[in-house]
Amino acid sequence: MPPVESTLLASDEPSPVVELRTGSASPFLLVCDHAGKRIPRALHDLGLHEPDLSRHIAWDIGIEGVARRLSERFDAHLIMQIYSRLVIDCNRPPGSPTSIAPVSDGTAIPGNDTISLDDAASRVREIFAPYHGTIERCLDVRKKSGQQTLLVSLHSFTPVYGGVKRPWQAGVLYNRYSTMAHALRDLLAAPGDLVVGDNEPYSVTDDSDYTIPVHGERRGLIHVAIEIRQDLIGDEAGQKYWANRLAEVLPKAAGL
Ligand SMILES: [Zn+2]
Repeated sequence: MPPVESTLLASDEPSPVVELRTGSASPFLLVCDHAGKRIPRALHDLGLHEPDLSRHIAWDIGIEGVARRLSERFDAHLIMQIYSRLVIDCNRPPGSPTSIAPVSDGTAIPGNDTISLDDAASRVREIFAPYHGTIERCLDVRKKSGQQTLLVSLHSFTPVYGGVKRPWQAGVLYNRYSTMAHALRDLLAAPGDLVVGDNEPYSVTDDSDYTIPVHGERRGLIHVAIEIRQDLIGDEAGQKYWANRLAEVLPKAAGL
C-alpha cells in the first residue's frame, strides 16, 4: 500500500507527540492527553476566536507545567499530546460522540459541526494514532525488558463547569482498579487542607475514556488518573507546588 499523504498537518507543523526523558529507568510513566491547544492551520482555528481558543474547552490549562516538573523530579518518561482536544480528544475512543465534539461546555465548535468521514479519519491518523502508538510502543519495550510501569495520567479541570462551582482542588479517577487511586486520595487528603475528589469531577469509563482503559486496565498495569483544578496551576508557582505535592505521595500510593 502506498503511504497515506498528510492531509491535516503541514510539513512545518510539529508532531503531536512530545516526549521527555525517553528510556528513563523510573517505574513511573507520565502521560498527558490534553497538554496543548495547538490547532493545525488547515482547520482555521475550527471557526473559533479568543478567548475560546485558550479556554478549558481547548486544553488542560496548567497541566503541562506540572507534568514537566514531575518528570524532572522522578526522572520519569513523559509523553504529551500538544494539539487541542477540540481537534480530536485523545482521551476518547475515536468515533465516540465527544471524540470530535461539536459543542463543548455550551460553546459550539463550527469546525466540528459537519465533518466528513475522511476529515475525521485524518485527525485520528495524524494526531490520535501517533500519540497512542507512542505510548503502546513504550509500554511494549518496558514489558519486554522487564521494567515495571506505574502509569500516571495527568489532567486539569475547570473550577466552574456549566455554571456550577466545583469544591475539589484535585481528584483521583479510576474504573476497575482503585488501589492506587484510593491510596493517593488518602495521602493527598491526610494533611486536611484539600478536598480530594473520588472519581470526581469525572470518573473513568470505557465509553468516556481511552488512556486508562486501554493502556492501564487492559495491560494490567498499576495506574491512576489525576485531575488538578486549573486555577491552582495557572502559574509557575502553582505548577511547582502541585508537582512537589504529587511527588511526595505518588511513590507511596504506588506501593514503592
Ligand atoms: Zn484532560
